[in-house]
Amino acid sequence: MKSPFRVRTLRARIALWYGAIITLSLLGYSLTVAISFARHVRSELDRRVHEDIELAARAIVVDASGSPSWPGGFLAKEIEEEEGGGHWVEVWNLTGTRLLTAGTFDPALPDAVRTAGPLRTVVTHAGPVRTMTETVHVGDATFLVRAAVREVGARAQVRSLWTQLAMISAAVLLVSGFGGIAIAHRLLWPLARMADRARRITAQELHERLNVDVTGEELESLRDAFNTTLARLEASFDQLRRFTADASHEIRTPLTALRSVGEVALRSARSADEYREVIGTMLEEVDRLSRLAGELLAIARAEAGEARFVFDAVDLSKLAREVVGQLEVLAEEREQRLVVDAPEPVVARADRLALRQALINLVDNAIKYSPERSQVTVTVRPGAHLAVVEVRDEGAGIPPEHASRIFERFYRIDPSRSHELGGTGLGLSLVKLIAEAHGGRVEVESVVGRGSMFRLSVPAAG
Ligand code: ADP
Repeated sequence: MKSPFRVRTLRARIALWYGAIITLSLLGYSLTVAISFARHVRSELDRRVHEDIELAARAIVVDASGSPSWPGGFLAKEIEEEEGGGHWVEVWNLTGTRLLTAGTFDPALPDAVRTAGPLRTVVTHAGPVRTMTETVHVGDATFLVRAAVREVGARAQVRSLWTQLAMISAAVLLVSGFGGIAIAHRLLWPLARMADRARRITAQELHERLNVDVTGEELESLRDAFNTTLARLEASFDQLRRFTADASHEIRTPLTALRSVGEVALRSARSADEYREVIGTMLEEVDRLSRLAGELLAIARAEAGEARFVFDAVDLSKLAREVVGQLEVLAEEREQRLVVDAPEPVVARADRLALRQALINLVDNAIKYSPERSQVTVTVRPGAHLAVVEVRDEGAGIPPEHASRIFERFYRIDPSRSHELGGTGLGLSLVKLIAEAHGGRVEVESVVGRGSMFRLSVPAAG
């Protein structure tokens, strides 16, 4: 269940975190300052009580009858009293008679705190006082000296510090709260602009980019990543569009041929031989169409890549012998020699059917594009972590300016010759797709007039 207190906008979250961190730091700082100030004030009070007792004791003079007095007139303190302060000193004998008093106020201390003991706080009619009683020896006489210092002034000082800290904290919190909101807004508004811009880019406007001025490495890298994705999307959309147009064109050509051959045949009565010939031509076109459909399907399958392939350990040497066996008839028709050089098993991690299709395409091309009585050699060998098949022919070769393009869909060096040979223009692009789906590649090396060599490499098994 979603918490009702979940803050949804990043802006509010940043502001809240900012506020929370400042509040906690301020709280920590204020507490430390106030507590150490209160401790200091308390120890100052205690010091004064001790000092009063010491001064009072030192000032006592005892006469012959044993009575104490302060001949110089003992002033509790020769310091200026702060507001709410006050000192009081009493001298008692051990039988419980008060003999001397001096001070700026009389707290009327209770008898209970007249025994020698540690410092304590007592609440009197003049407010809380810090007091202590000590036994003092003057000559042979012994007295109890009790001093008291009013706490009201010191407490007021601590209270005033608390108030000031609270006021400063409130002001800082207010400023930092608004500051946090302003900072979050300033930091995040380029994101909002980018989102706004991105929303307006549709499939028809994939050439558009997020031309938003941003500062900060993170935002720049987000914008650049988005723009790179857009560029890739645009490229694949373009490729798809071109492919659809090319495929429609390729399908329309045999359909038009079928139609016109049929129409011409129907225009007048023909002999059975003539009809047979027309049907033969029509079947050739149907053949071309079904080959095209088959290759389009294979391309869709290869594009789905790993999702559709079943990878297994496949012996390429065995596969090469199988493929050569299957295409032997075609080579024989042209009196070509098909040679397999695969002395040892070379095991690849591959989808058997897809790899077989790729190999058929390469060997079929080598046969198609080589002269009669030439030789086609299929070599299988292991590479570094790879299984490699090379298909070498003695054909016309491929001029360098075409070498990189022959792997594109529907690209042919000589379209009419490819058509004549029943080619669809998809064979090599399918080989490339299959190689890449396996994590491998296909390359061509060719010398015009001497022949070509297509090398298909896929990862070795294990
Ligand atoms: P096609 O159906 O036309 O054979 P491919 O995609 O298999 O389509 O090949 C693309 C083009 O590459 C061919 O039309 C041909 O011009 C050229 N080609 C392919 N293989 C060879 C080869 N072994 N020797 C010379 N040219 C070749």
